[in-house]
Amino acid sequence: MAEANLLLGKEVASEIRQKLKEDVAAIREENEAFKPGLAIVQIGDRSDSTVYIKSKVKAAEEIGMFARHVKLPRTSTQADVLKAVDELNKDSTIHGIIVQLPPDSEEPIDPAICTNAVAPEKDVDGLHDVNAGKLSRGELNDCIVPCTPRGCLELIKKSGTEIVGKEAVVLGRSKIVGSPMADLLKWHHATVTTCHSKTKDLPDVVRRGDIVVVGIGRADFVKGDWIKEGAVVVDCGINVIPDETKKSGRRLIGDVHFAEAKKRASWITPVPGGVGPMTVVMLMNNTVDRAKRALQMQKNI
Ligand code: NDP
Repeated sequence: MAEANLLLGKEVASEIRQKLKEDVAAIREENEAFKPGLAIVQIGDRSDSTVYIKSKVKAAEEIGMFARHVKLPRTSTQADVLKAVDELNKDSTIHGIIVQLPPDSEEPIDPAICTNAVAPEKDVDGLHDVNAGKLSRGELNDCIVPCTPRGCLELIKKSGTEIVGKEAVVLGRSKIVGSPMADLLKWHHATVTTCHSKTKDLPDVVRRGDIVVVGIGRADFVKGDWIKEGAVVVDCGINVIPDETKKSGRRLIGDVHFAEAKKRASWITPVPGGVGPMTVVMLMNNTVDRAKRALQMQKNI
């Protein structure tokens, strides 16, 4: 069998970015004073979080949105975070809010309390219980879908694969990747199996998948012979491994053994350049969607 085609998230994300840029320009042509606004709340100083936030702010500005980085000190309490989120909930210039996780504080801060403090209609990470509940019930037109699974779905669609009736296997059941991915595939009418750390005979379960989405955080974990011939493989994993041939001394790899799996899959995402760029652009997409709805509501009043 020929090697798999590559599902290049980097390219798909760039197309979506261009479309969003045009959407924002069209909105502003009619409503000059209006700009979609994203707020990112950071608690503390984690350098990796700061890098992610910078890339989100840049992505927002590139498509004509504005992004506000709300940086709270490491001494912040849970109450301080809730107060900051509440102010953003009430701010009509802000259409999307995310709390960058994990929090970096000297005080005990519960991530679920922070994400549930965001107004569900501004929850562009899709982590609020209301959005997760609606997604699990299939209310796809009335919920905000988390960015990574939304990006994975776009990539699966891009491969031209018909999802209806397919066997889909999702590895991982986190709130941000695995669980919403399984819900999305279920409501696109795949027959879905969710795997996790207690799953028995994992290779055999994965072999059933016409569509396999992996988000577990273990380098090269899924081997080539676990992949059904012709499957579509989407790898969300981001793992840093040492690599002396690189200037930085390290490189990124996914959860799937790419070299082996591409010999059996029909389509596969590389790492990097696969799911990662889709996650950022889907955050922009979710925010533009919310801004459009807010504008529509203003007009209806
Ligand atoms: P979590 O640690 O929250 O969840 C990992 C999941 O994998 C859990 O459900 C866990 O099972 C399962 N798991 C762990 N080990 C095994 C195993 N040996 N066999 C089967 N299942 C296992 O991680 P996230 O969901 O947040 O992230 C997963 C990966 O995706 C990471 O590499 C992360 O960096 C990446 N990621 C990438 C993004 C992107 O933009 N590309 C965005 C978000 C995450 P159990 O529930 O039983 O513990």
